[in-house]
Amino acid sequence: MRFGIHTLDEYDVGGKTVLCRVDINQPVDPATGTLKSINRIQACVPTVRELSQRGAKVVLLAHQGSDIEYKNFYTTFPHAKVLSELLGREVRFLDDVTGPAAREAIRSLKDGEILLLDNVRFCSEEQTLFEMKLKLSHEQQAKTQVVQKLAPLADLYVCDAFAAAHRDQPSLCGFEQVLPSAMGRLFEQEFCVVSGVMESPERPCVFVLGGAKVSDAFLMMETVLSGGAADQVLTGGLVGNILLAAKGEQIGGASLDFIQKSNYGEFIESSKPLLARFGGKIVLPTDAAYLDADGKRREAKIGAVPADAGLLDIGHETAKLYTEAILSAKTVFVNGPMGVFEKPETEYGTKAVWQALGETKAYTVLGGGDSITATEQYGLVSKMGYICTGGGALIRFLTGEELPVVRALRHAAKTFPTDKPKG
Ligand code: ADP
Ligand code: MG
Repeated sequence: MRFGIHTLDEYDVGGKTVLCRVDINQPVDPATGTLKSINRIQACVPTVRELSQRGAKVVLLAHQGSDIEYKNFYTTFPHAKVLSELLGREVRFLDDVTGPAAREAIRSLKDGEILLLDNVRFCSEEQTLFEMKLKLSHEQQAKTQVVQKLAPLADLYVCDAFAAAHRDQPSLCGFEQVLPSAMGRLFEQEFCVVSGVMESPERPCVFVLGGAKVSDAFLMMETVLSGGAADQVLTGGLVGNILLAAKGEQIGGASLDFIQKSNYGEFIESSKPLLARFGGKIVLPTDAAYLDADGKRREAKIGAVPADAGLLDIGHETAKLYTEAILSAKTVFVNGPMGVFEKPETEYGTKAVWQALGETKAYTVLGGGDSITATEQYGLVSKMGYICTGGGALIRFLTGEELPVVRALRHAAKTFPTDKPKG
């Protein structure tokens, strides 16, 4: 037991049917239908390999994209191929999740065999719970099709989907109501790294917060500053722009419009108390970049930003300031790029800060889809201390909230006995 959750060490999985929920959600190239990244598939390999090698019949359950904009909403067929190659053994795929074909395939698995079912968000109950259009308690989630059809075929549920641990959905929180459950190795590792940063970081501990996940970023900032984990928070991206506006700085009409259109306007007001309380620890950009009428990069000091500008990156002076802070830190936690790094005109700040992350002797923990993309783009993957598969889950975890999947796994730990009780 670790963090109130059972681990794989506590179960004899040989000969058992293990339903393992992974997060292998990856960006898909819409033109070719191929995966643009495979980092999450790589990350789940240790758990899948261990289950298979220990003789379990492994049934993998995963989601891919969502129907909110039908972006990346796709079958998990390509994932099975990639996983097969990474494991060096066959991963069977079936374009079914809970139907008779899926259930028959599960029943026919032999020890050590691996089967990946299709995108679990093709099941309506899973999908309608996405972004909480429908609310179901964990007990109700246990009554959904996916749990009712699959749980009777399984002996153990394993959740390795740390990146989806903030999602309150049947494939993540329902099985724990009816099956003995454990976290997978990746889940355990990410939980351990992230709670380590939260509870006992080597100091100075610097948080670098950029990007666009505004509401969670502010909640998290409050938690890590009031709890004492963060000695300093360096801000950029949309988060930085909002804080600058909260401080009363002129950030340009286009920046303000973008904040309003993204429905983040209220944060300009609501972050004022945070600035008042922790002003000394929250570092704001001192200069920023915008594009002129010809689409060329221009920089201005904060205080001298043109009235209509849209701030899309931190400036050179801020990048230098942040680089120095990162180089003299002992722990650095990073989520969110410093600007619109997807465009060459506005990638400077992110690139400079990321290079400092690669250079520093500090233990660096980084998470978030776009932050990972930047790390790959700048060839810095091997230079980071730990790269989390989670983005949303990671910062939600750092707000101090008990994530739905953690709550469900703890419930199962209290409800169902293990094969090898400790002691
Ligand atoms: P992650 O995926 O690493 O968790 P987010 O998704 O929160 O990061 O934020 C990344 C997005 O934020 C990128 O698409 C980037 O273009 C955007 N972004 C960064 N800075 C700005 C800015 N100043 N204005 C608008 N969007 C920004
Ligand atoms: Mg993102």
